[in-house]
Amino acid sequence: MSAKLFVMPIAPTPPTFRTSPPPLLQHTPHGLHCAAGDFYVDPWRPVDRAVITHAHSDHARPGHAAYLATPDALGVLKARLGAKATIDTLAYGETVTMGEVTVSLHPAGHVLGSAQVRIEHRGEVWVVSGDYKLDPDPTCAAFAPVRCHTFVTESTFGLPIYRWRTPELMFGEINRWWAENAAASRASVVYAYAFGKAQRILASIDAAIGPIICHGAVEVLNRAYRDAGVPLPATSLVTDLPKNFDFGRALVIAPPSAAGSPWMKRFGEHADAFASGWMAVRGARKQRGVDRGFVISDHADWPGLLTAIAESGASRVLVTHGSVPVMVRYLRDTGLEADALETEFSGEGEGEGRAEVLVETAAEAESAAEIESTAETESTAS
Ligand SMILES: [Zn+2]
Ligand SMILES: [Zn+2]
Repeated sequence: MSAKLFVMPIAPTPPTFRTSPPPLLQHTPHGLHCAAGDFYVDPWRPVDRAVITHAHSDHARPGHAAYLATPDALGVLKARLGAKATIDTLAYGETVTMGEVTVSLHPAGHVLGSAQVRIEHRGEVWVVSGDYKLDPDPTCAAFAPVRCHTFVTESTFGLPIYRWRTPELMFGEINRWWAENAAASRASVVYAYAFGKAQRILASIDAAIGPIICHGAVEVLNRAYRDAGVPLPATSLVTDLPKNFDFGRALVIAPPSAAGSPWMKRFGEHADAFASGWMAVRGARKQRGVDRGFVISDHADWPGLLTAIAESGASRVLVTHGSVPVMVRYLRDTGLEADALETEFSGEGEGEGRAEVLVETAAEAESAAEIESTAETESTAS
């Protein structure tokens, strides 16, 4: 109360005295705060108004009084946050005024309903891209570049060794592996993150090869995708199947946490694989103890990050999570203003409650990258 009385009689600082305008978003203990609009983007502690880029659990946390997200994100958000959560929706490209700023959401190409948040205040534009990828994905709207002055980017795979092959090649590899296993009457188990990765695999593989079985944690999200109008092939839960079902031609999609669990026993001798961008790191597949690693990520690779940054037209880039120092250094070398922006977001593997495992993997990736970057860059360039 007294603070307000002290502040009110004082005239605002004339703009000419300012060296630069106050940042549109600032790191606070609760999250990235937009003071001019009085809201947070993907806050990590409970707040009154949260604008959500997407429904992965490190971005859409429970406990906020009100949420704003895209209509496509609504089903998954409700599944995650409970029916009581207050969630308003804003379609891609529509605008809403919040305090002194105009907010709109634009496709990020990461998972169903994922958005970049565009914030405009007196002609100054910031874009918070959340997590994103540029590769085509039949399960979500394609990434749309949004021009801005300041671009806030992730950097999960922000090292030159990360260069994804085309989705056709990646999913062709899964199809061949599955068909080979089916020919040998051996079930094919793919471990994939339950939200996003699993549905992208389902929508991209050749469902004619055999029956598809999904773990319950995956099937819940399949339902949300189907409800949002995303076509997925038919899938079954093991409980839907007769006791003597032959899994020999089956593709099984399960979250990484199912590995080694009693749930796996019913599939007998089977081939297994892990689908993740981290599979690009030598040793990551062995560490997971699986036969195959499929390098499939819902995050941008190194060229994708640089393309998105360039297409934003931003003169200033703030890097939130992943290989932050490498990306900041690289961008500064190219003449951009770049800085780290501290957040509590995690990288690929979010939403599985296994952040600690992935932090380790990321750290290994960084050190491995120093040794391998030269060789890898040369081999992928040819
Ligand atoms: Zn995400
Ligand atoms: Zn994330």
